Amino acid sequence: ALVLVTGGTGFIGNHAVSEFLSHGYRVRATARNQESCDRLLSTHRQYRDYLETQIVADITRPGAFDEAVKDVDGIIHMASPFTYKITDNERNLIMPAINGTTRILESAHSLAPKVKRVVVTSSFAAIADFSKGLRPGHVYDESQWNPITYQETKDDKKGLAYGGSKKLAEEAAWHFAAVNPSIKFSLSTINPVMVYGPPFPGSGDLRHLGQSTSEIYALMNGSMTKVPPTMVPVFVDVRDVAEAHRLAFEAEQPLRFLLSGGDFDMQQVCDLFRAHISTLENRVPVGSRGKPTIGEHYIADNSRARNVLGIKFRSFSETFLDMAHAFLEMEKSR
Ligand code: NDP
Repeated sequence: ALVLVTGGTGFIGNHAVSEFLSHGYRVRATARNQESCDRLLSTHRQYRDYLETQIVADITRPGAFDEAVKDVDGIIHMASPFTYKITDNERNLIMPAINGTTRILESAHSLAPKVKRVVVTSSFAAIADFSKGLRPGHVYDESQWNPITYQETKDDKKGLAYGGSKKLAEEAAWHFAAVNPSIKFSLSTINPVMVYGPPFPGSGDLRHLGQSTSEIYALMNGSMTKVPPTMVPVFVDVRDVAEAHRLAFEAEQPLRFLLSGGDFDMQQVCDLFRAHISTLENRVPVGSRGKPTIGEHYIADNSRARNVLGIKFRSFSETFLDMAHAFLEMEKSR
């Protein structure tokens, strides 16, 4: 089967592309420019006969995916800006998130009759109400929605706009499915909490890390003298997120899947690095050892992903130690 993957060039995307290729799928990946396409092809060159790329320069344009969806059997839509460094929320975050999602569903609906399954990468940010803070004792699950509105997302100056863009994009996807009963595919969304773990080997370099990877590398590269606050104290391993995309793709239920490997905080990550990797002992901020914030915040319920998809989530130490070792490898090839 041929699967179209958007955003395949990113941190999660490279793992997802690899997950599909290694399970016998052919993959067509879209990216915004030739350089990203070339890098993806080179990273996954062992599957060169099964991977193709296509440039979609502007995912918000009507018909943007008309070419890309031709002959595909299914779609993973992952491309969406993930950054807090935004000057124009509407133009830089909301439009690519919502319109990118709507455009690909429109193209699939009208031009790709073989598509049976579409999986959209949403986020825990589409579930959680971050305006309520850490909400000790509260349990988040797939029945809940971030209540942020379009206007609030547009006007936001407090770092909530990215979450708003994900909520609005996911809402647009379910809305599209609801108002187009003749669609031939079923929809699912993957809603991961903060995604960490090793960047896919050869997929990127330390100067161009994504949002979540750069937060952890900042603990190792000397740029942090203090342990930073933990904004979202729940993590999931990128390899589990990639696997969840494939498993959700192979399932049929039109469901959201909240992915979480458990609780964590930045202090715990720093302690882990210093305790287990001797070369990091003097590079990682010490902070106040033994004062983690575990338990002082909400819980992200991962039981649907475990029960329906059968995912066994990687542990905190596997996720973060593999991540640190991957960064140390990347430093060698700098
Ligand atoms: P990256 O920044 O590593 O990758 C983002 C991907 O999306 C890249 O392939 C990039 O393509 C593409 N992209 C970004 N902005 C645009 C745009 N304006 N138009 C077209 N393509 C764009 O992020 P992640 O891998 O971390 O995130 C992937 C997805 O997972 C996103 O949808 C994100 O919201 C979601 N997510 C991530 C979490 C995390 O902690 N990392 C947590 C929850 C959800 P290009 O190569 O062209 O730049």
